[in-house]
Amino acid sequence: MLPDPVLLQDVKGFLGEEEGRRIYTLALEVGGRGPCLEIGSYCGKSTLYLGAACRESASILFSVDHHRGSEEQQPGEEYFDPELWDPRSRTIDTLPTFRRTIARAGLEAVVVPLVCSSAVAARAWATPLSLVFIDGGHAEETVRADYLGWSDYLIPGGYLLFHDVFVDPARGGQAPFTVYRQARDDGRFDELSMTETLGVLRRKGRSKNRIFSLL
Ligand code: MG
Repeated sequence: MLPDPVLLQDVKGFLGEEEGRRIYTLALEVGGRGPCLEIGSYCGKSTLYLGAACRESASILFSVDHHRGSEEQQPGEEYFDPELWDPRSRTIDTLPTFRRTIARAGLEAVVVPLVCSSAVAARAWATPLSLVFIDGGHAEETVRADYLGWSDYLIPGGYLLFHDVFVDPARGGQAPFTVYRQARDDGRFDELSMTETLGVLRRKGRSKNRIFSLL
């Protein structure tokens, strides 16, 4: 079942409703074949969609974020939100809000928050993944590091998703689009249709299940 619309309305975030429905559908399709992972949890909006699909497919969602906000969410920047400022640490801290979102959605037994940078989480990773959603820092080297750090873990048939893919440079920053194109052209993925700014690639190759069924 899709997340509760009232809860979705309450949670801060930049994911459109159609984009959310698409990632829910894709995660529901492949979640039963392995855990999903998202980079850039923020306050948990995409987590609601992915978590709901993982719960339904008896999967798990790893949700990676240092919760200190991206460059553009720092004081004085375009997306700074004073409600997310922690006066004690004098930093952005989205973790309490994220935890509240997960608790309200009843997803604490489905979502595993990894409170660290994507690079740290990737360093010792070894688990095959059915879906990777890249929506962390939007600097080109950050998006590329997320792509290179995680795409190897995708199972055949697994989905690699990029958020904020702006084909038209007048509508938004080009870093996710640049890395999305690099991934699309690297020969390991099939390109599926986009939903708004959500880029969807599928890892080529036979699924493990099909290989097993041939043996
Ligand atoms: Mg985004």
